[in-house]
Amino acid sequence: MIAHAPQTQFAVAGDMLQLGGLPLVRLAQRVGRTPFYAYERQHIARRVAGLRAALPAGVHLHYAMKANPMPAVVQYLAGLVDGIDVASGGELAIALDTVMPAQRISFAGPGKGDGELSCAVAAGVLINVESLVQLERVALASERLGVAGKVAVRVNPDFSLRRAGMRMGGGAQPFGLDAEQVPALLARLRQMALEFHGLHIYTGSQNLCATALAEAQGQSVELALRLADHAPGPLRVLNIGGGFGVPYFPGDQALDLAPLADGLQRQLDRLQAVSPGTRLNLELGRYLVAESGIYVCKVIERKLSHGQVFLVTDGGLHHHLAASGNFGQLIRKNYPVAIGNRLHGGERELASVVGPLCTPLDLLADQMEMARADTGDLVVVFQSGAYGLTASPTAFLSHPLPAEVLV
Ligand SMILES: *Cc1c(COP(=O)(O)O)cnc(C)c1O
Repeated sequence: MIAHAPQTQFAVAGDMLQLGGLPLVRLAQRVGRTPFYAYERQHIARRVAGLRAALPAGVHLHYAMKANPMPAVVQYLAGLVDGIDVASGGELAIALDTVMPAQRISFAGPGKGDGELSCAVAAGVLINVESLVQLERVALASERLGVAGKVAVRVNPDFSLRRAGMRMGGGAQPFGLDAEQVPALLARLRQMALEFHGLHIYTGSQNLCATALAEAQGQSVELALRLADHAPGPLRVLNIGGGFGVPYFPGDQALDLAPLADGLQRQLDRLQAVSPGTRLNLELGRYLVAESGIYVCKVIERKLSHGQVFLVTDGGLHHHLAASGNFGQLIRKNYPVAIGNRLHGGERELASVVGPLCTPLDLLADQMEMARADTGDLVVVFQSGAYGLTASPTAFLSHPLPAEVLV
């Protein structure tokens, strides 16, 4: 049987998971109710430190906060990374409340509204423009406000990221401008009273193949240098996206950073030779936070049907769509799930973990091996620090929202 990568990121004492130094049962008491999401500071800090140690010093790390926009998490990460990438006016407001200076915040998204653009110009954040129409809107907002907007151009590259869980570049895309449309946009930009800062190329998400990522990074730098010839000024920043994946499913293996580090050093050298002032940014969401978080729900009832065990819990897909297999997965696979207050347990069994919703989609674990559990036990879904709560249909069936804590 193909197994999940072992979940070793948290301490374990007396067969019970611990987060932030608290045994899970105590943490549940502290939160005061289930279900809840918990994210561990220590793990986030270790993750950032690990990346910094592995990657060349010239690479700047940005946090793409749509992965986990909890204000306390964003604030904590703001003190650890070099910038924050936002994808809406709401995220922008959260990012601006942190210690991150506005000039280190960038704003991407194919459908930015005039109100959002106006706030972004006024705030002085970098706007990654994704079309000629969007550029004209930024120019109008700038004129209205009497503030020169800062812009970078998001390019839909003429190549795509191999082996990505989700592709966001190459071929027809709503994101950015096709590479061949970029010179015309840069020519228009030259006539505007806007500050040109650079280029943004994002190729895709959830990739566990270092060589595919390194290849895309090389192609991104090459494309950027080609387009830079048409730019109205020097490239101050080049954001080459991220896409670093984490192991979710049986057979997945953690990303190997070593080949990425070698590749990035080559890209830095190449940039240095042609465009020495350019700051190279990586924007990572999932990789920074996914493994730091768990989703915890309580077993309400244990029942049997045709010989199979079902653990009915107070949590489910309305809080954690991704773990139910309905957030972008083609074939449903189990996230790593365990009984958090008895990880190994005395007796083990195959069980399915379901939620309270009246739909067969509300499945957090399908026939997984775990410790034998009963009413009151705490089910833990690992790898839940990214695309959890805010990527879930919380209003579906009108259950209360889960709590969220940073410990
Ligand atoms: C979503 C997104 C990210 C973050 O992707 P992860 O897979 O979470 O690292 C980065 N950049 C852009 C432009 C995005 O839309």
